[in-house]
Amino acid sequence: MPRRSDAPLGLTASLGAAFDPEAFRGEGRRLVDLLADYLARAQAREGLPVLPAAEPAEALACWPAAFEPEPSGVSPEALFARVVDGSNHLHHPRYVGHQVTAPLPLAALADLVAALLNNGMAVYEMGPVATAMERRVLRFLADALGFGADADGVLTHGGSVGNLTALLAARQAKAGFDVWRGGTGAGPPLAILSSAQTHYCVRRAAAILGLGEAGLVDVAVDERFRMRPDDLPAAMARAWAAGRRVIAVVASAGSTATGAFDPLPEIADFCASRGLWLHVDGAHGAAAALSPRTAAKVAGIERADSVVLDAHKMMLMPALVTAVLYRDGHRSWDAFAQEASYLFHGPDDSWTDVGTRTLECTKKMLSLKLYASLSVYGTRLFGDYVAESFARARRFAQRVRESPDFELLVEPECNIVCFRLAPPGVQDLDALQARVRERVLASGAFYLVQTRLQGALWLRITIINAATTDDDLSALLDALRAASRDEPAPSGETASAR
Ligand SMILES: *Cc1c(COP(=O)(O)O)cnc(C)c1O
Repeated sequence: MPRRSDAPLGLTASLGAAFDPEAFRGEGRRLVDLLADYLARAQAREGLPVLPAAEPAEALACWPAAFEPEPSGVSPEALFARVVDGSNHLHHPRYVGHQVTAPLPLAALADLVAALLNNGMAVYEMGPVATAMERRVLRFLADALGFGADADGVLTHGGSVGNLTALLAARQAKAGFDVWRGGTGAGPPLAILSSAQTHYCVRRAAAILGLGEAGLVDVAVDERFRMRPDDLPAAMARAWAAGRRVIAVVASAGSTATGAFDPLPEIADFCASRGLWLHVDGAHGAAAALSPRTAAKVAGIERADSVVLDAHKMMLMPALVTAVLYRDGHRSWDAFAQEASYLFHGPDDSWTDVGTRTLECTKKMLSLKLYASLSVYGTRLFGDYVAESFARARRFAQRVRESPDFELLVEPECNIVCFRLAPPGVQDLDALQARVRERVLASGAFYLVQTRLQGALWLRITIINAATTDDDLSALLDALRAASRDEPAPSGETASAR
């Protein structure tokens, strides 16, 4: 144990010890060693289940609530080691679950810096570096999307908040009355057009915006779950018939369940002809713009009024960091058309006080991890990651199609694949998927999810860990087969992964 320096003036002895720089240095070094060892084990697929099996009550019992009034002698290292052991291991190449990435270790270090410096950023003075970096990162993303010089935006905490923020701006811009000051009652009821494949947070945002559940009007999808632009006029007519004024169309790029990309050029044409706001929920897939190999997926995105992109999905960042980008940057002040003069002094559209344009007042130094990673590794790494993940999904889908005992829901458009086991003679296919998934999860060999589509249960994977190989995905099919035959699942620790 390193010697504690003297308690700074005004602190109790235990506060002094807690802030001791030498203790921090020692703990930090041990902690980085612990995390580096974890990374090595996870990436080697050794001695580590993907998701350690634990019932919620068991997990609760592991973490007693009996905090003592005095320092306990608990070693931070031992505590963090238990956190690592009990967590879902996204860095294990056989994690193919929800759309949260295995982040770049450097970005995790940047988050540590952000946590210690704790620059809140609502006003420039509370985060000068992070504010400047945010501006640079947003410019990079705006350029990648093909937005012009007028584009601007903010970083915020997650796609759900990002979609709400953009739709607040859309409402203020397109309602035809000042909803911010007068409330939704000051004009006719409003509506947003969107497909049933849209992420649930958009429905939630519509309700928060005061549109009510009926304020989100469904547009039909095609056989590949993409919005059908030819149904937009009818959807608009349905909204009118219900006495609603349509303000916006929300398109998905790609959708959460199947990764479908809505046809943006046609939707943008419709929005332009009717004077509607086009919002693209690109939380998952807008990053396709980062590679020339995948950019065609989001052709037309440069015509959107606003775009949301989650960097914790396809840009290798730790959660959360989301970009909300506006083609016309001035629109970004419409989202929160409110003044808080005790905080914000600058001219109305000064870029420096980001709190005028975010739901958050205090927010994390979100830009730091993105700026650091882009400047250290360069931009190509990100595009390659996106393109490789998409290509790996296509190869996996091909393998599923070639396997007589599996069924592919739809050709994947990105790195999300829905498929299921369909061996001949099985009656209840839904029960089979649920059972094999549970078995494979319990074995610790893989983590994958399931989703209900077209009235049936499908297995769903997102190939989002940069270390996942084609062999890992072949092993997944084998593990699912074995589970369906009640055989013990192949171990998660196979050496043949490469
Ligand atoms: C993940 C996702 C969201 C929600 O984003 P969070 O960052 O989890 O809040 C919204 N839309 C789409 C299309 C998504 O994939």
